Amino acid sequence: MVTYNQESFHSRESYTAQIHLPGHLFEELVWWALQALPDEILVGMDIDADAPHLLEVETLFKSSEHTEGLFQGQGFIIGEAHIVNRGNSYSVHHLPEDWTDDMFSTSRGSRAGRFTHWLHTHPNAPAIPSNADADAAQETPGVDMILGLRFSPEGPLPWFDDVEGVRRRVGTEAKPTPSKSRRRSFFSRQNLTVLGVAPSGHKIHEIQLIAFRKNGLGINVILVDKDGFPFGWKELQEKFNQ
Ligand SMILES: [Zn+2]
Repeated sequence: MVTYNQESFHSRESYTAQIHLPGHLFEELVWWALQALPDEILVGMDIDADAPHLLEVETLFKSSEHTEGLFQGQGFIIGEAHIVNRGNSYSVHHLPEDWTDDMFSTSRGSRAGRFTHWLHTHPNAPAIPSNADADAAQETPGVDMILGLRFSPEGPLPWFDDVEGVRRRVGTEAKPTPSKSRRRSFFSRQNLTVLGVAPSGHKIHEIQLIAFRKNGLGINVILVDKDGFPFGWKELQEKFNQ
């Protein structure tokens, strides 16, 4: 999370707005994503209306292109997250019938209008929006987020990387571990560096996270602790003051 925030800081001029996501929620999202495999999950998220972004943090990550009033919930830390659906890359964007029966009118679109922000997962695929993702985002009042995970064993979902777009990794890119043998292995994919092992037994090789607005513009994600400060805050301030 520290290196992710460093990249958010260094690339801040590429964004017109930022959103602060608590680290404990982020960990929960990763765990839910793994528990649902091989399905994708759709998660609805709301802001904590009592927790505006800390001003000094907002200022540090602010770009010269910063725009106010860009989306609903802007300026507030994400407060809660709920899994609302699981399925494949098409079905996950559509809420189950019982969610749409009475609570939402059909005019509010395939996802209805209950949550401010939405996140869905890309198991063994980069966190880059598909055309279906772009369509679904048109109904989102806040921002859409994608969590991409590269893991093994891959099961029916081998890593799919043939996608154009900007990657934002939490931690480092998955790389083969240096081989002790000089003989070439045909199973090098199984020797990728491991960021961590999930309770499900999956080895996690790479985590990607992005946020975007329905117009396609990226939103800068900052991972914050329970007090609203970014992980690696002290080092970031030093860089800022240099
Ligand atoms: Zn998607």
